[in-house]
Amino acid sequence: MTITAEQLVEQLQSLLGADHARSGGDLTAWEEDWRQLAKGKALAVVSPASTAEVAAVVQACLAAKESGLNVSIVPQGGNTGLVLGGTPDASGLQVVVSLKRMQAVRAFDKQNLSMTVEAGCILQNLQNLAAEQGLLFPLSLAAEGSCVIGGNLATNAGGTQVVRYGNTRDLCLGIEMVNAKGEIWNGLSGLRKNNTGYDLRHLMIGSEGTLGIITAATLKLYPQPAATTCAWLAVDTLDHAVELLALAQQQLASGLTGFEAMEQDALKLVEKHMPHMRMPIDASTGAAFILLEYSDDESEDRARARLEGLLEAAFEAGLLTDGAVAQNLDQAQKMWDIREHITLAQAAEGLHLKHDISVPSSSIPAFVRKAKEELAKVLPDARVINFGHLGDGNLHFNVQAPEGANPREFVDTCQQTAEQAIYDVVASFGGSFSAEHGVGRLKRHDLAHYKDPVALGMMRAIKGALDPLNLFNPHALLPDA
Ligand SMILES: Cc1cc2nc3c(=O)[nH]c(=O)nc-3n(C[C@H](O)[C@H](O)[C@H](O)COP(=O)(O)OP(=O)(O)OC[C@H]3O[C@@H](n4cnc5c(N)ncnc54)[C@H](O)[C@@H]3O)c2cc1C
Repeated sequence: MTITAEQLVEQLQSLLGADHARSGGDLTAWEEDWRQLAKGKALAVVSPASTAEVAAVVQACLAAKESGLNVSIVPQGGNTGLVLGGTPDASGLQVVVSLKRMQAVRAFDKQNLSMTVEAGCILQNLQNLAAEQGLLFPLSLAAEGSCVIGGNLATNAGGTQVVRYGNTRDLCLGIEMVNAKGEIWNGLSGLRKNNTGYDLRHLMIGSEGTLGIITAATLKLYPQPAATTCAWLAVDTLDHAVELLALAQQQLASGLTGFEAMEQDALKLVEKHMPHMRMPIDASTGAAFILLEYSDDESEDRARARLEGLLEAAFEAGLLTDGAVAQNLDQAQKMWDIREHITLAQAAEGLHLKHDISVPSSSIPAFVRKAKEELAKVLPDARVINFGHLGDGNLHFNVQAPEGANPREFVDTCQQTAEQAIYDVVASFGGSFSAEHGVGRLKRHDLAHYKDPVALGMMRAIKGALDPLNLFNPHALLPDA
């Protein structure tokens, strides 16, 4: 006999208590995405407090699904994702499983340079925890005060330190998860070597809630650098920015821990919406600006000397038109604040189209020229707000509505046109239409169009094998067959 939606909700409430299995009422915080692009309707929002409770929730949903109820599960962390992967659709038949109550630190192993934490731990808290022990957890992104490690793993988040430490994938040693049968797999391990077959950890990382629910992870830690210093640099072309990157990589090697680029219009938007933020260099004076971070293992003096050595060489080579070096940590933080406020300034300007693309960093100048050219042919008045993690070849090549136009209308009517113009250029440079944000529900059609069909077929086979009833996030990532 089919279990009804009401019966399932009652069952979830008896498992977790009514406070932690909510249905009806105002669920906007879980039903709407960070950008307020779309608001869905959840059957229930459940907040389990332990892995055993997550497993019980999955088993209850599975039993309902097997009985004929078309229910599915959307795992959710901090709900800061930018591609609608963590919010429910409008069907009223999706159960949002929020991991935010699972915040325990299960182990901290200073000698092994690792920590084991639950999926709902806020990223910034983990950075602080590591710092209190004199260590570094290097994952860093502007949403770090709200996003949680389960979400970071599920999206394989990138951020600002990838140039040195890699993506979230590179920072994870082990995973605990609940699969589509409601079984718990404890793959938590502090091992750095373990060649015993398919690495299921890596299958889960970046799976965007479509293969299971990550409940905990063992993460890699690093020694804290002895000193970190930053420079804010003006360049007159992106060609010079890329030459500067090559020079910095050569001279600073693994000490180069951040290399962010911002075109002038991106900074103008920050000036407009956050007038209290002072630019280190007048934003009108350069075509683009670089925030370069250098970390030194020995001392502050050495950090300063090496950074200054690089800048001297860069000025000599004619790569820079101006530059400012942070005199202390406060000034360095202010530089990062400006960079991290671009996304917020864009949100304040109104809804816009995000294109989180990557190409080989050497192709960035040619890509930007060509993409702007192609976009101007189809949307001549649209405004490009271009910035990103140049050190990783990753740009947020975003498009804002023309001055004075209605942003919602622009997004609703121009998304496909902008995407096609930009992503075709990305593809022609051998790039990716989603460098770090994932696919979610927003970019599934792009996956269908741009992903290699053989790869797509193998992805479908994996999903079919691990989640044959399509219980987990059925409308995210994989396009309909
Ligand atoms: C201001 C701002 C700046 C950002 N900057 C960056 C950046 O620099 N780099 C970057 O990569 N991203 C960035 N993002 C995007 C976003 O912060 C990241 O994708 C982040 O990793 C999402 O984490 P979350 O906890 O909010 O996950 P959510 O948004 O809740 O979920 C994201 C996806 O993961 C799935 N999921 C969540 N938790 C789990 C779990 N426990 N098990 C299985 N699946 C799960 C969801 O179903 C969904 O598909 C930014 C976002 C904002 C708002």
